[in-house]
Amino acid sequence: MRNVIILGSGCAGNTAAIYAARAGLNPLVVIGHEPGGQLSITTDVENFPGFPEGIQGPDLVENMKKQAERFGAEFIWGSVLEADLSKRPFRLNIDGEWQETRTLIVASGASARWLGLPNEQKLIGHGVSSCATCDGAFYRDRKIMVIGGGDSAMEEANFLTRFGSEVTLVHRREQFRASKIMLDRARANPKIKFLLNTVVDDIFDVVKNEVTGVKLRNVNTGDAWEQDVDGFFLAIGHIPNTKPFAGQIDLDPDGYILSKGGARTNVTGVFHAGDVQDRVYRQAITAAGAGCMAAIEAERFLEAEGH
Ligand SMILES: Cc1cc2nc3c(=O)[nH]c(=O)nc-3n(C[C@H](O)[C@H](O)[C@H](O)COP(=O)(O)OP(=O)(O)OC[C@H]3O[C@@H](n4cnc5c(N)ncnc54)[C@H](O)[C@@H]3O)c2cc1C
Repeated sequence: MRNVIILGSGCAGNTAAIYAARAGLNPLVVIGHEPGGQLSITTDVENFPGFPEGIQGPDLVENMKKQAERFGAEFIWGSVLEADLSKRPFRLNIDGEWQETRTLIVASGASARWLGLPNEQKLIGHGVSSCATCDGAFYRDRKIMVIGGGDSAMEEANFLTRFGSEVTLVHRREQFRASKIMLDRARANPKIKFLLNTVVDDIFDVVKNEVTGVKLRNVNTGDAWEQDVDGFFLAIGHIPNTKPFAGQIDLDPDGYILSKGGARTNVTGVFHAGDVQDRVYRQAITAAGAGCMAAIEAERFLEAEGH
């Protein structure tokens, strides 16, 4: 029987582990399919406080993990496949083995949607990004491309005009999902150029280990061409990792956990932390802060229950 099981080894899970371990709760962290979470796939992180020269994403999450281990947090490989939250202790199926816990912190993140192009994954952190707030500043006076047709694509394109010499917004259709106000704002921005009915077929240049251009295709005419690009930003949505909890934890229509205030979910004793609940800020520091909140709530809950 565990006091706390934490799902996810990203910034939220690792920070929750530091706090829970220092509170003497001997937490178990389930690492999940992506050890270290989203920061493990990026390079420079320049906006996490405390690192004036910046830090590599994988180093930052590894440091958090070591810090948690120093106070007794245990990490195990595997993912939660199913969960029974109908009564306490909660039961979790971790890669086929059931574990029991008095409290649960869900810090399983939200994975960015990618286009699935052969070179895309190889160039993440080297010109390909899914986070304008995180990586926009690296493309000062450079050519930027944004993919998507929803509100977040418009918001990211507008934001990126602060940095880029030009921003090209590529959308596969003529119509947009974006709200009128967001679309109008983007259309009124002289730095944004729209390429509609257009898809990306390839990204270059893996050999140089940086984005230098893309191959585009008009879906109506079939015309294909290449365009120089330095920064390539995906804004086609995120998938919250909440599948094992559907029907138990209250989720919004897109699958994000609905908060009941603080770090609480609708299930007493189950807490949320990080991008799995936060569809607005999606930053390492906010995820870490949410991990801290969840651990403090778990600790107070256990205390009140006499554990
Ligand atoms: C390319 C890129 C660059 C970024 N750069 C920056 C930056 O410079 N600065 C910044 O502040 N933010 C940046 N971000 C955003 C930042 O990475 C996220 O906001 C942050 O990682 C969210 O932390 P999290 O712990 O909530 O989730 P995640 O980091 O997504 O971690 C989720 C964890 O949950 C695990 N998991 C998932 N499902 C299960 C399951 N069923 N069972 C067990 N475990 C599970 C995963 O394996 C993973 O370990 C970037 C994101 C990306 C994609």
